[in-house]
Amino acid sequence: MEDSGTKKWCSQCKAIRVVEAVQPKSIGQLSDQHCFMTEPEGIYFYRRGQRCQTCNHSWLSAEVPEGIIDEFVKLRVLLRADMKRVEEYSKESEESLARLNKSLSDLRAFSIAMHKLETRTTS
Ligand SMILES: [Zn+2]
Repeated sequence: MEDSGTKKWCSQCKAIRVVEAVQPKSIGQLSDQHCFMTEPEGIYFYRRGQRCQTCNHSWLSAEVPEGIIDEFVKLRVLLRADMKRVEEYSKESEESLARLNKSLSDLRAFSIAMHKLETRTTS
């Protein structure tokens, strides 16, 4: 009996298991199954409840055209590359700010020394 039915990845079992498709409402989700995101651009997807027949874990899946998954993967790769660049820029900025603060501190010390020298020479 375990071998009949659709097999999918169960994140709880961390294995391919027989999974029953159920109404989203039966696992505590909104009942809408045909969904359309209008922003940022039109993406149609079909929501389906899933229940693992081994551990009873349930989750919501969204069926989309495979090209959308490819697009999401490319965007994730780009996002990670951008995050790495931003972290590098942030580190460079911190180092620049530390050098700038050191220069400002030196200038203040120089200014105070000049003021003391001026005060001594004028009195
Ligand atoms: Zn499971």
